[in-house]
Amino acid sequence: MTTTFDQLAQAVLDGTPATSDDALAVLQAGDDHVLDVVAAAARLRRAFFGNTVKVNYLVNLKSGMCPEDCGYCSQALGSNADILRYSWLSTQEALEQAEAGVAGGARRVCLVSSGRGPSHRDIERVADMVGAIKAEHPQVEVCACLGLLQEGQAQRLAEAGVDAYNHNINTAASHHDAIVSTHTYADRVETVGRAQGAGLSACSGLIAGLGESDEQLVEALVALKALGSDSIPVNFLMPFDGTPAGDAWEPVNLTPLRCLKILAMARFVCPDAEIRIAGGRELHLRSMQGLALHVANSIFLGDYLTSQGQTARDDLALIADNGFVVLGADSAPAGACTAGPQPPSARQGTSGGQERASEEAGLGIRRRGAGTTLPANA
Ligand code: SF4
Repeated sequence: MTTTFDQLAQAVLDGTPATSDDALAVLQAGDDHVLDVVAAAARLRRAFFGNTVKVNYLVNLKSGMCPEDCGYCSQALGSNADILRYSWLSTQEALEQAEAGVAGGARRVCLVSSGRGPSHRDIERVADMVGAIKAEHPQVEVCACLGLLQEGQAQRLAEAGVDAYNHNINTAASHHDAIVSTHTYADRVETVGRAQGAGLSACSGLIAGLGESDEQLVEALVALKALGSDSIPVNFLMPFDGTPAGDAWEPVNLTPLRCLKILAMARFVCPDAEIRIAGGRELHLRSMQGLALHVANSIFLGDYLTSQGQTARDDLALIADNGFVVLGADSAPAGACTAGPQPPSARQGTSGGQERASEEAGLGIRRRGAGTTLPANA
């Protein structure tokens, strides 16, 4: 039987873009139709990305101490979240962290620093790191995520070998000022444009769960399509205690099935963009992570910037178990067929149902990898 969502997928494949109304219909589909939604979105995913999953690896070059006040961010001004705080990694440290991710199967390394934006000295620092990574691993894509860019900085990063620049719009223009006051939506859009102007691939995405309406989620995705974002990280709010978003978070806001619909909506609106399941994957998708891979085509390996993910071994098993292969890998992921369940470790800094969910997902504040003496989760 052909479903409405299947017809929508066919129309998209035939060249008719999904409208805002289509996107809203996907987002507001009944839970009893979620498999129809996933099956239809999976057709688009297969058409553009086959059976591959792009694996990205985050390296947090500089953690915390940010002067901006993004209400969702554990690294923001005024955040009391109990995260790792450290200044810039050295080039050698950044290389070692990146290599851990590459060895784990990552095709793209994301070099991220907290802060409003880089100084020219910071740009040179990152250029040096990129040179070191590219010299050892020329096949690996490097994405930089350093905040708002000034004139000329994107060009310098491109010259240094950076392939992509990440700067999320995070939410709809109509909701932006409710989550941050120290910069504007227009500032963010300008930086995406600067990256594109320098020939960098634009990576820009969103965070779901910031108190936005369904219409605003659609608005954000339509904006990302208009921006020409090549890759779209879809984050699900991680409610860090000690941040405004964490204190206000309602656990019912993001159910696993709603997260699936959000990812499917992204796929319908931006069918050929890399849809990357980002922060909050384990916490909010939980047992739906596998199904989500049939809609999205990319995940981050191991840990996030300030929080721990499930083990990298489980990430690779997730890919293999669902019949996918790691993009760029010569053989099946190392975790395939051998990875069993991992014991949960307590997530710190949450309460009630959130804590239970987090413990089940094996999450916590990141205490390993960059900025520590412990091996990375990769
Ligand atoms: S999202 Fe970026 S700019 Fe905003 S507070 Fe966090 S590190 Fe700073």
